Amino acid sequence: MTETKINDKGAGTRAVWGGEQELSWQGATQTPVVLSVTFGFDDVDTWMKVGAGNAPGHIYSRNTNPTVHVFEQKMRVLERAEAATSFATGMAAISNTLFALLKPGQRVVSIRDTYGGTSRLFLEFLPRFGIEVELCDTTDHDAIESAIAKGCDLLYLESPTNPTLKVLDLRRLSRAGQAVGAGVVVDNTFATPINQHPLELGADLVLHSATKFLGGHSDVMGGVVCGRSDLVKRIFQFREINGATLAPASAHLLIRGIKTLELRVLRQNENAHGLAHHLKQHAKVDQVFYPGLEDDPGHAIAAEQMSGFGGMVSFSLPGNFDNVKRFLEKLHYAHRAASLGSVGTLIGPPAVTSHVEMTPEGRAELGIPETLIRCSVGIENLEDIVDDFDQALSE
Ligand SMILES: *Cc1c(COP(=O)(O)O)cnc(C)c1O
Repeated sequence: MTETKINDKGAGTRAVWGGEQELSWQGATQTPVVLSVTFGFDDVDTWMKVGAGNAPGHIYSRNTNPTVHVFEQKMRVLERAEAATSFATGMAAISNTLFALLKPGQRVVSIRDTYGGTSRLFLEFLPRFGIEVELCDTTDHDAIESAIAKGCDLLYLESPTNPTLKVLDLRRLSRAGQAVGAGVVVDNTFATPINQHPLELGADLVLHSATKFLGGHSDVMGGVVCGRSDLVKRIFQFREINGATLAPASAHLLIRGIKTLELRVLRQNENAHGLAHHLKQHAKVDQVFYPGLEDDPGHAIAAEQMSGFGGMVSFSLPGNFDNVKRFLEKLHYAHRAASLGSVGTLIGPPAVTSHVEMTPEGRAELGIPETLIRCSVGIENLEDIVDDFDQALSE
């Protein structure tokens, strides 16, 4: 199938066929895992051309690799982007993007609820290189717009956020960023390319921790950045040198995972929606955070910019942390573990996972109750997840 044809197709078709049209070895129908570190040329002229980037081909796997290339092209097709480049982890994607695009004296605007590692880059590492960072109250769109208007070289957004599932109006904020000439970057890890397309909402770059929904099985780490080709090229050239390259064996697992991305995410959307509704009317549950709930503060914007509300649900229990411990330890069908986006339900309190480095006061300021539980809903049968939660919530 040619590239122009596949770009018009649905996400399921793009997930299966994207990026894989050209590579075939001895008629293999699946992308070969090319572990070779280096690539040889009998003809020195061709070697010189490939080395100079004037002919297709590969020289050395830190820079490019055929299997890794297929993963990148699949993601480019899924995000309908001009270009894509990949990384060893999601944090490598984020830190390479920031360090490749920024220089001393520049200013970043972002939100207080970014992923924990991202937030550390903003608070600890970027300032060390003379880059100013202003982190705004996540749901105060007016405050974010005035911070942007004060001057902004890079606007960094994430929606829905971790762990309280706050929703940002990506179209409105991208427009504000573009108006002052800022590059607009969106972490789309929670939403996935099935539920949300930041590039269509006005962002320049969209990035993912591929470790989560893209891989989908908690057995591979990776990261990817897709978007404007001039920016992706600058990030790729930085990554070539700092070496945070995705391994070919990891690219293979990501390619395989993505083929079922639409199936998994549609099921996770449904399961999370069902579980959120169930918890909402449960006498033993305090608050439920899920943008798919009609009375959720982010619902209207989420309904406008997302085609599904995602597989993440957070909720709080009445009482103290002992109740959280008791509930978690009684669950049969959930891994009590960090991370998210896997086929199996994963659950944990942010107080000891994503936001462990914060004080209880800091977490309260971000609206994270001490009894909050974050759940990445898997693809199990909803009635079994609900039954399991019910027995764990009962005395
Ligand atoms: C996990 C995660 C990251 C970091 O990804 P790693 O693959 O763990 O490095 C970044 N952003 C979000 C939203 C995440 O959930």
